[in-house]
Amino acid sequence: MADPRSALSPLDDVLARLAAGAALHRIRDVERVATSDALGRVLAADVRSTLDVPPADNTSMDGYALRAADAATPGAVLAVTQRIPAGAVGQPIGPGEAARIFTGAQVPPGADAVVMQEQCVALPAADGGRLGAVRVDTVPTAGQWIRRRGEDVRDGAVVLHAGQRLTPQAMGLAASVGAATVEVMRRPRVALFSTGDELVMPGDPLPPGAIYNSNRYTLRGLLQAAGCEVGDLGIVPDRLDATRAALREAAAGHDLILTSGGVSIGEEDHIKPALEAEGRLEHWQVAMKPGKPLVFGEVRRADASAALFMGLPGNPVSSFVTFLLCVAPLLRVMQGGEGGLPRALPMAAGFDWPRPDRRREFLRVRVGPDSRLELFPNQSSGVLTSAVWGDGLVDNPPGQVIRAGDAVRYLPLADLIAR
Ligand code: AMP
Ligand code: MG
Repeated sequence: MADPRSALSPLDDVLARLAAGAALHRIRDVERVATSDALGRVLAADVRSTLDVPPADNTSMDGYALRAADAATPGAVLAVTQRIPAGAVGQPIGPGEAARIFTGAQVPPGADAVVMQEQCVALPAADGGRLGAVRVDTVPTAGQWIRRRGEDVRDGAVVLHAGQRLTPQAMGLAASVGAATVEVMRRPRVALFSTGDELVMPGDPLPPGAIYNSNRYTLRGLLQAAGCEVGDLGIVPDRLDATRAALREAAAGHDLILTSGGVSIGEEDHIKPALEAEGRLEHWQVAMKPGKPLVFGEVRRADASAALFMGLPGNPVSSFVTFLLCVAPLLRVMQGGEGGLPRALPMAAGFDWPRPDRRREFLRVRVGPDSRLELFPNQSSGVLTSAVWGDGLVDNPPGQVIRAGDAVRYLPLADLIAR
């Protein structure tokens, strides 16, 4: 008899397998959307600038533009010959002249420095000129307070790359080079259903033996945060025929079918036989905690194509963690990106973990006021409070004892949820 423990698959092997499977289901459709509506979308093409940003040298201060050589000693008095607010274009300035200038305005030809107004005194003009004169009470260096043309972006530069997810700041960068629209991947269409006869929806009374369906909310939110269109099929009863029917229905209009529960080996667990009948299945006991059982495969469609399938364990924390570690990378690969996990940060543990599991563990932690990681006291896979209290996971190798002060691998939830 094989040692049942040897049947556990290392998470990295599973991730490699998922990435290979997802690569066969890459979404090819692209669409052009308004940059203002592109939050969270994945770019299908590079965004290349056709201009310098900023387009011209401009001042980063309110003050006076001048020739530094004209103010080589403190107290130099220069004639103010023009006033340049942001948006206006000035005239060349000559020797002994200064331009009153405001933040964001182009520096006029001839000027090579800006002196901030706090270091100047406005004077009436000796010759009665309308704009007066200015006394410069500092010695400017050439170039000071000037933002150079193209210092942010050069004409022709790629500012955003295909495969990149658009953050708010990436939307701003696209807009700064004048891109009103961007080409993005079609959103993945994901069907979601929960299995379990004990499940009741919030809003309905809770009969004896029942619990509220929380995974539906957690997984739906995670899918939305990952930029997916969610087709919510609700709760599917713990029956083989119902599970098979749900799979067939879900496969029709979706790229991926995601379920929670019913993936163990109990006789009430119908995901595996249903998937076997409706498509193809791979099933692992993943050497990770929480989240051991995982089902992956395909569901055939009427036209002989197939939807990807991913079945997560039912325990709420297991569902949450396996989504972050396994489904999120799968969705990235489907959209042309990289699989795998984000880079773990080395952090000091502020806790002891004297009895580690044989499996690789993902502990719910948060960064404490002393920058050490605090551990949520109850690490049970049913305690969803830990996932809200925490701001990250410690990725702890199998059998690794942790003592306070040890360096551990910290994965911020923010990096796992949307990258
Ligand atoms: P299962 O994987 O179906 O054996 O479920 C494992 C545990 O997770 C059981 O205690 C279930 O009651 C619980 N569970 C399954 N699905 C959900 C769900 N959608 N929301 C909350 N708990 C669930
Ligand atoms: Mg169940």
